[in-house]
Amino acid sequence: MAERTLPDSERAEAYLALGDEELEALPEEQFLAEQRNLLLVERSHLEQQAAQLKAEADQLAQTNGPLEVQFDEESGEGGTAAIDRERDLALAASAQAALAEVDDALAKLDHGTYGRCEVCHEPIARARLRALPYARLCVRCKEGGLTRRR
Ligand SMILES: [Zn+2]
Repeated sequence: MAERTLPDSERAEAYLALGDEELEALPEEQFLAEQRNLLLVERSHLEQQAAQLKAEADQLAQTNGPLEVQFDEESGEGGTAAIDRERDLALAASAQAALAEVDDALAKLDHGTYGRCEVCHEPIARARLRALPYARLCVRCKEGGLTRRR
């Protein structure tokens, strides 16, 4: 195992605790290194989450039969387990989708294109990137996009 590439969650916590002024004052190179670490920490959380939810769903399937199990007329338990399983699978799928976003952001870091809005190509605010390290759009485009769609 290459330990150098392991996510460092203590470092991420320290970074998340920085004030906005300290965040803005970081040299670009260090800011990007912190964002990379944040993405790696997020990635390992999401992987664990997805695996755990998938395991839970599998377990529910085993103890309660297939997803289209007949509703148990007396207890209603069969139906509930099927709903729990669907919920776990949906959550696992959204964890997988977030993982794909994280990987995209890591690829952008590798290519030197990280932190730019995909619509207007302006830099995305650091505070926004720290809160959502795989943000694709700046706040303006994000909000503009939402209004246009309505
Ligand atoms: Zn934009």
